[in-house]
This record gives sequence, structure tokens and C-alpha cells, in this order.
Amino acid sequence: MDCPVCSNEPMIVLEYNNIEIDFCQSCQGIWLDQGELELLLGSAGDSDKITKMLKEKVTVHEKPRRCPICLKKMRKIELGDQRPVMIDQCRQKHGLWFDRGELKDILEQLQSQNDDAVLKFLRDIFTNST
Ligand SMILES: [Zn+2]
Ligand SMILES: [Zn+2]
Repeated sequence: MDCPVCSNEPMIVLEYNNIEIDFCQSCQGIWLDQGELELLLGSAGDSDKITKMLKEKVTVHEKPRRCPICLKKMRKIELGDQRPVMIDQCRQKHGLWFDRGELKDILEQLQSQNDDAVLKFLRDIFTNST
């Protein structure tokens, strides 16, 4: 699968607890297939929380990105309460695109301390790749 930002740049697949995470080594963006964010966050209860936190952004200045699966333009959505992060979501629900550091930001806001293994994993990704 090619990176939606760097186009023609294949992403590498990282694995965390059997969840496949597509990672672009050049821009450090992350692609999550539909449902994988919920898996990363753990407990099913969080899935409702995430849905409630998703808000579609109507006016945006960021360039639209294309879904790496269907190649259609994705929509911009905001995720998060205190410090909303703008991410891209495929309208066909293929998944979500996070620019560098955005996934970590979101997880830091949502995650309870008892489950910071995933945060450690993400920090490692960003420190290991230059
Ligand atoms: Zn990229
Ligand atoms: Zn798509």
C-alpha cells in the first residue's frame, strides 16, 4: 500500500498485538484500517467514546488526501476533546490516516495510564525512524 501523502512510497507494516499498522518511513504517517484504532485503544467501551469524539470538519485548509485502498479523497475529521487533532477518514470507511505524531497525541488524550504499552510502542516508532 502506498503512502497517501508521499504517493508511490510504499508503507511498511508494523505489528502491535496482532494489529497491523501501516507506517510511512518518509513522512512518519500512520494508516489504520477501519476498527484498528478501537483495537489499539483496547476495551469495547472506548469504541463509543471514539465515535462520539469524531466530528466532521467542513472548512479545512489542509489538502485532501486519498485513501490508499480506494484512492478516493478522504474527509477531514476532528478527534479529541481538549486538543482536537485533525485526521483523514475514508468515506468508504476503509480506515484513518494520521500525520506524524497525531496518533500518539490522540492516544495520549484517550488512554488511561494502565495501558500505556501502546504509547511506548508509538514513541519507539518515532524515535527509531529518522
Ligand atoms: Zn509518507
Ligand atoms: Zn477508501
